[in-house]
Amino acid sequence: MAAVHAAGPGRRVLLLERTHDGGRKILISGGGRCNVLPGTLDETRFVTASSANTMRKILRSWPLAEQRQFFEQDLALPLMLEEATGKLFPVANRSRAVRDALVQLARSRGVEWVGDTRITGLQRGTGRWELTSSDDRRFPVDAVIIATGGLSVPATGSDGFGLDRLGQLGHTIRPTYPALTPITLEPPAYADLAGVSLDVTITATSAGERREATGGFLFTHRGYSGPAVLDVSHVAVRGRLAGAAPAQLRVQWTRFDADAWAALLVPSPQAVTTVLRHHLPVRLVDRLLAAAGVSESTVLAQLPRPSRLHLIELLTRFPLPWTGDEGYQKAEVTGGGVALEEVHPRTLESKLHPRLFLAGELLDAFGPIGGYNFVWAWTTGRLAGLAAAASL
Ligand SMILES: Cc1cc2nc3c(=O)[nH]c(=O)nc-3n(C[C@H](O)[C@H](O)[C@H](O)COP(=O)(O)OP(=O)(O)OC[C@H]3O[C@@H](n4cnc5c(N)ncnc54)[C@H](O)[C@@H]3O)c2cc1C
Repeated sequence: MAAVHAAGPGRRVLLLERTHDGGRKILISGGGRCNVLPGTLDETRFVTASSANTMRKILRSWPLAEQRQFFEQDLALPLMLEEATGKLFPVANRSRAVRDALVQLARSRGVEWVGDTRITGLQRGTGRWELTSSDDRRFPVDAVIIATGGLSVPATGSDGFGLDRLGQLGHTIRPTYPALTPITLEPPAYADLAGVSLDVTITATSAGERREATGGFLFTHRGYSGPAVLDVSHVAVRGRLAGAAPAQLRVQWTRFDADAWAALLVPSPQAVTTVLRHHLPVRLVDRLLAAAGVSESTVLAQLPRPSRLHLIELLTRFPLPWTGDEGYQKAEVTGGGVALEEVHPRTLESKLHPRLFLAGELLDAFGPIGGYNFVWAWTTGRLAGLAAAASL
């Protein structure tokens, strides 16, 4: 996106890319379908340890409707809204269509693709920048945009070069951590529920920080995943890395709160398990009843009040045990990164070094599941591309 917007008549734009074909995170995104954008954007859901004001200014530089228009018109890639999740996917339903369309547009605007090129050096010469590659090629340039991504899923090409080099160049790097990553439990006490999925509301609390997410929850062989878990995972990860007391994860397993369950679990000849099975997967019901000490044959009329209250607590504020996370290997994004205060919000030019522009995940901001992280990548890429071109 940065190269597409930097390109134009009279300018030579090189796209230096470590992998052969580039855009590999796009390829694996959205389960191979690429959730290009969210249907609506709630900017308060982005996370940064930098200035929230700077982050907002950057986000507002390219309104969501215009981004959608860019994909549908400039890239000729119609998008469709998935009603159940509020996510936008390409009608083609294949990530490859998104990656290929971007590369194609860059090429058609004159961008020179330099693949299989791992950049290992970035130096400021006399008025120019010089990039060097692992095989000792040199690329002297007037302006440079660093968009090397974060540290997550290293197999896609992100190796942390940008973060390391920018740190050496004097930029503040806010502590990085895996975000949107599955949570683990060792020993895996719920492995027998692996594959069970349902919509929940999960709340993570750690050291004064509280994050709530509603959406899919999935039991895995090693712990828990699904959008709702991923969306609060950074609270658990950050607390653990900071050596704080483990974050508390609490789950409300259905849309019913405690009052709603109290109204459903009134004395009657119905078996407790029958009522629960109307609203929850069978295997989970069995575990919840066992945890509450309620036998399968108990009918509501026989359920003692303390057991009913305990069961309601487990249904609405279940304390989810956890011991770790899947880290960068599975994290969809990296939290932390270059401090936003150190870039000009209108251009993403470094405040420390002229004609050095920064874009994407290496900046200190990320969003929840749902297309938010591509919004950040597209918005910052466009801004840096336009500004780098204007700086020449
Ligand atoms: C499994 C998975 C699914 C995801 N699904 C979605 C989704 O559906 N929707 C969404 O919004 N977000 C999704 N994300 C997040 C999204 O992919 C990232 O936020 C986004 O790709 C970040 O863009 P970026 O350009 O900053 O970094 P990247 O996409 O990581 O791109 C960085 C590029 O720089 C190259 N590079 C790195 N170092 C060097 C070097 N030294 N020399 C040369 N080249 C280098 C890399 O090869 C790579 O091509 C997903 C992420 C993952 C891991």
